[in-house]
Amino acid sequence: MKNKTNHHILIGVLVGLFIGLYIKFNPSVIGSDLIIYVADLIADIFISSLKMVLIPVIFFSISVGIANLSSHKQSSRIWFLTFLFFFISMTLAIILGLGSMNLFEPGRGMSLSLFSEQLNNFHSSSIALPVFIKQFLSGIFVNPLKAMAEGNILGVITFSMFVGLAIAKSGKEFFDIKKIFSSLLGITMKIVSWIVRFSPYGISALIIKLVVQQSPELFITLSKFIMVIIGTTLFHGIVILPLMLYFFTKINLFVLWRGAREAIMTAFATSSSSATIPVTLRVVEKNLKVNSDIAGFVIPIGATMNMDGTALYEASAALFVANLSGIDLGASQQIIIFCAAMIGAIGAPGIPSAGMVTMAMVLQSVGLPLEALAILLPIDRLLDTFRTAVNVEGDIVVSLIVQKLIRRN
Ligand code: ASP
Repeated sequence: MKNKTNHHILIGVLVGLFIGLYIKFNPSVIGSDLIIYVADLIADIFISSLKMVLIPVIFFSISVGIANLSSHKQSSRIWFLTFLFFFISMTLAIILGLGSMNLFEPGRGMSLSLFSEQLNNFHSSSIALPVFIKQFLSGIFVNPLKAMAEGNILGVITFSMFVGLAIAKSGKEFFDIKKIFSSLLGITMKIVSWIVRFSPYGISALIIKLVVQQSPELFITLSKFIMVIIGTTLFHGIVILPLMLYFFTKINLFVLWRGAREAIMTAFATSSSSATIPVTLRVVEKNLKVNSDIAGFVIPIGATMNMDGTALYEASAALFVANLSGIDLGASQQIIIFCAAMIGAIGAPGIPSAGMVTMAMVLQSVGLPLEALAILLPIDRLLDTFRTAVNVEGDIVVSLIVQKLIRRN
């Protein structure tokens, strides 16, 4: 059953690409409107069903995971290792991004005025770093019911952590609640398995929409930048992360891909790490055999905080904008970009194009023109696919490393 779904997802991607490209190049073909309408409908149902289970999955997996972890002797070590490897993988991603931008220098020789049409239609909304940090922190301690209803993932994570800790610290007193929560998590994951069965159609529909909606003009002008970003993002996903994984766990790229592809392709098609959480959790537990306590902790938190692809992109795009503006950024300014990209990636929620919002802060950190966002936005739907896939892969890799480094008693 599992392999069949994997297979169907691959077919779904190819069929989506084929239909999307066919309609793109033959827009007046009979039935194209109907196909786009049906694709839109299926894509909506797929994303909505993932969102339907998202909050229960996060709440039950974190609270049960932490309740079990805290009774574990190595719980502080798990917390430490998780955040350490989030930091290491994002650091490597940013260094890769900055290094390749310095090497290939896309945008050098072009000028911002080339994009006057985009710039004229753009109204910038800036967020300074202090405001951003305040917004981020005030999203953490909130009414849990409000956070759940509004899909405020960070708020739900915080509340779930407290619930998990409270259960753990009370010893046997709330043991029954833990058992009930575990069962509810099992029920939710059962629903996830049905959604995963539907995912080949959802992914196919999302890819049709993606291909049909792209406008090629800006892509040609920005092709060098796009190629450098896709190339480095793939390099991080295919070389750096697997090397890191192999170094600590001896698990190779093929085993990783075979186990994780459902989640990676769902992330690619949805451009949302958060919406992918239910699938990611399922693949790390079922296919890659990560213990559910560790997975339940690392995956939901990683989906909102550990974003290698986003960190790489934000740092690279800032250098690209500097090139377009004819500004030479020295080492000290690139260090500032490094820090801003890290904060931006941690702060960006796992939803489509969230990185564009925190991108404003990265540009501002070294005084680059915010208007440049007008150039980046139209190409973001495409770039977001690759970076979200790598964001999710990073979470999976960290969960495997943490599991390996914990000596289970
Ligand atoms: N779409 C990304 C994610 O969900 C965030 C981003 O825009 O970079 O992981």
